[in-house]
Amino acid sequence: MEKDENLEEFRRWLKERNPGEEEFLQAVDDLATDVFSLYTQNQDWYDACVLLHLCEADRIISFRVCWEDDNGAVHVNRGWRVQYCGAIGPYKGGIRFHPTVNESILKFLAFEQTFKNALTGLPIGGGKGGADFDPRGRSDREIMRFCQAFMDELYRHIGENTDVPAGDINVGRREIGYLFGQYRRLANTFSGALTGKDIEFGGSHVRMEATGYGLVYFLRCMLAQRNQELGGQVVAVSGAGNVALHAAQKAVQLGAKVVSLSSSRGALYYRDGIPRELIEKALDHRAGSTELLTGMADACGGEWHKGSTPWSFPCDIALPCATQNELDGNDARALIENGVKMVAEGANMPCTAGAIEAFQKARIPHAPGKASNAGGVALSGLEMAQNASFTRWEQERLNEQLVEIMQDIHRQCIAEEQGEKDYINYHRGANLAAFRRVASAVYAQGVG
Ligand code: NDP
Repeated sequence: MEKDENLEEFRRWLKERNPGEEEFLQAVDDLATDVFSLYTQNQDWYDACVLLHLCEADRIISFRVCWEDDNGAVHVNRGWRVQYCGAIGPYKGGIRFHPTVNESILKFLAFEQTFKNALTGLPIGGGKGGADFDPRGRSDREIMRFCQAFMDELYRHIGENTDVPAGDINVGRREIGYLFGQYRRLANTFSGALTGKDIEFGGSHVRMEATGYGLVYFLRCMLAQRNQELGGQVVAVSGAGNVALHAAQKAVQLGAKVVSLSSSRGALYYRDGIPRELIEKALDHRAGSTELLTGMADACGGEWHKGSTPWSFPCDIALPCATQNELDGNDARALIENGVKMVAEGANMPCTAGAIEAFQKARIPHAPGKASNAGGVALSGLEMAQNASFTRWEQERLNEQLVEIMQDIHRQCIAEEQGEKDYINYHRGANLAAFRRVASAVYAQGVG
């Protein structure tokens, strides 16, 4: 297609080019719906086919990951790195290890990452990677061997000025350590080619906490916009990983009552609010999420709802922090009936298009992950800056910077939003602000 004349034609073109890639189509459609008029009205961007350019990754690398388990059996997995758009800076985005990982999911995550990174205001482009590896039940040594085998191929494609991966689902500090160690040995260089590193070898204070804390700082801005405070609000959180637990921790520290956490097997509900000490203890856990949550339910007298999500529990605020498409139209309607007043995404694209439509129809402010969970990548950007300048910044300074970045993203969303006086469409605001920055950079660098 040479020209994208209307949104329907554009959608048809996109679908034909990416058959079966449901998550990628969903993410692009979400953005295109909001930015299409802006795009077609900018003659320069339109003539240069900037939107079409942004529907294709710069490159996708796919590779075999061959590793041996503790019994000597050989396993073959598939790994990927999607280097989506480098117009603003080196590719930047996490690595996910999960059996559901495929090219469509990584393309959607890398696409989202491109626009999220633009909102941070930092010079970082968008990328994402991962493997269809299931770490559940694997020993520490098996995880190490898998990470090393993954890096055996990835190392030639990354670097501090090229592509800087970080963690994502099932890739935390331990995995980043193994990945970084193998990168350093193979590349024979000590550089900031990965973020989320341990503090002892180039990591940054606040990086681990940044996505969850940043989410709550963004939520605080949303509440302030309506002259409300976080103190006393009842918050339902999903997930029990890095993002969920840090969001829960910060929300409780700021006076909210967190009534739920969840895993892929069920949800913990505690009407009186999960005690702060239990959330803090959970941050050090090494067990799987379900074992963690059933243990927490026993410890606080909470309820374990096997096979459930938190979306049927009464709450003022919902923070989906587990995975994509975990909250659908029916969940959104249940939340609305139960009195939800605000939703902010900690995960990437956790709400389906049907859920977003239901929230918008009910005039419930809903922040998309590309705005509200950008704190993690922002801190990764600050980790890169510390590595490049051979320094380490104090925790307090970094936390203040995180607060400022989240406030700035909130301001950008509002500045773009010309909607109704007492209802901010954060979705549209974030899409417009992010697209404006990425499209300008792509256009300024010429067709190619
Ligand atoms: P973790 O691996 O630390 O935790 C993921 C959590 O989500 C686990 O508790 C897991 O439970 C649960 N989960 C996974 N799949 C499902 C499912 N289908 N239904 C319900 N629960 C599920 O990952 P993170 O916390 O790092 O990431 C969570 C989300 O946040 C992802 O969407 C990620 O892309 C996004 N994100 C992460 C950032 C980061 O800095 N880490 C930055 C920005 C976004 P179980 O163990 O049972 O599978």
